[in-house]
Amino acid sequence: DDPGNVKVVVRCRAFLRREREKGTQCLVHMDPATNTTTLNAPGENTENGMRRALEDKEFVFDKSFWSHDEEDAHYAHQEDVYRSFGEEFLDHNFNGYHTCIFAYGQTGSGKSYTMMGTPENPGLIPRTCEELFDRIEEEPTPNTSYHVQVSYFEVYNEHVRDLLVPRSPLPNYLKIRDSPRDGVYVQGLTEVEVKSYADVARLMKQGDLTRTTASTKMNDTSSRSHAVFTIRLKQITHSLLSDETIERTARMRLVDLAGSERAKSTEASGQRLKEGGQINRSLTTLGRVIAALADPKRHHGKGRRSREVVPFRDSVLTWLLKDSLGGNSKTAMVACIAPSDYDETLSTLRYADQAKKIRTRASVNQDCMS
Ligand code: ADP
Ligand code: MG
Repeated sequence: DDPGNVKVVVRCRAFLRREREKGTQCLVHMDPATNTTTLNAPGENTENGMRRALEDKEFVFDKSFWSHDEEDAHYAHQEDVYRSFGEEFLDHNFNGYHTCIFAYGQTGSGKSYTMMGTPENPGLIPRTCEELFDRIEEEPTPNTSYHVQVSYFEVYNEHVRDLLVPRSPLPNYLKIRDSPRDGVYVQGLTEVEVKSYADVARLMKQGDLTRTTASTKMNDTSSRSHAVFTIRLKQITHSLLSDETIERTARMRLVDLAGSERAKSTEASGQRLKEGGQINRSLTTLGRVIAALADPKRHHGKGRRSREVVPFRDSVLTWLLKDSLGGNSKTAMVACIAPSDYDETLSTLRYADQAKKIRTRASVNQDCMS
């Protein structure tokens, strides 16, 4: 077992055009030398001498990405974000560990930009897939064969939909199963064998199209849904020396979470929760799961008992991500923040601060067949 903390990084995006036009004040500062992120209270320089009710807050994360000002020497490009930890997570996969990277933050904070990106500025998912095939093609390990599969699904309103099948007129929701052998999985989810980066690119495009088509029809559900892209890498190595066959199967999950601001508003009104179904049950439960996993008392309880209090099974997303959050996985969180929203940014940074305390225990997933 390889125990380790969830790696937590923070990324601050640039002003959007409308923010720039309004002359919005930037409240976030980052010191790349110390990885400190400072959130300043708005209206600090008001001249009427009004007492500030809000305080400046300081946080330290594993890494802080300043993607606010392209002129700045420390500006973090998509490439920098990938090099600083996406690459490392791909190494873990090749070494046989399950991994998970999830993006958290309010709508419009840069989650999809960070995970998927744009055709001109691809994000973590396309970069990871591209490099995965580069490695397989350029530096193959002798006597090893590689098999790569991808799947892509979305959790919306506690329903799982496959993003790799075209939208059908009738909703086609998939069920979740829990088996002693395979753990928690989505039954009937399309898993496509891919042979090249071009194959993956085609599927990503198809999945994103399915996601956005659904979302324009249904009043922007994409900000309220969680998208989970999974890469499964299987490496089969045959040792001529010992005549053994070793099979390693590692999974990488890349998760673009729903906008965090919705969780608060649903939480605040029990009524809306009843009326509108359970749009954010997954996100509110994720908050409770993280709080429970981050609780130091948990580490003193007797193993199994203390684990039961973590409410993984209370929502679809947390149930599916159980391993990624609290078990056999190396996991990272990218906290995405907007430059000028004090309340939402503070809430995201606090959430991220809690996630830092979570420890997972990753182990190499391999079978040896003689
Ligand atoms: P979210 O998925 O969190 O709702 P998006 O990723 O869609 O947010 O980002 C909102 C907008 O900001 C998009 O237009 C996106 O292109 C832009 N954006 C986000 N992060 C960056 C960044 N680091 N650099 C440049 N543009 C960004
Ligand atoms: Mg998005």
